[in-house]
Amino acid sequence: MILTRLLILLCLIWLLFRIYRWMKQGYANHTGKEKRVPTVRCSYCETYIDRDDAYRSGDMFFCDELHYKAYKQKSRQ
Ligand SMILES: [Zn+2]
Repeated sequence: MILTRLLILLCLIWLLFRIYRWMKQGYANHTGKEKRVPTVRCSYCETYIDRDDAYRSGDMFFCDELHYKAYKQKSRQ
């Protein structure tokens, strides 16, 4: 039960962090010069992310190091 709550909490924190980054980016696009950053797809969760923010491994991209590790673990099974 505690573990479930912890997982939900972690998901929420991760989501808030994503939203925060997305909002910050939107704000920067409004004020600064328009800068087009190519997007890539996370090989683990298939979310589109800016290539500048992506975690790269070879020719694969991930949201962050956590998804990279999760992907590696998944492919090992
Ligand atoms: Zn991901």
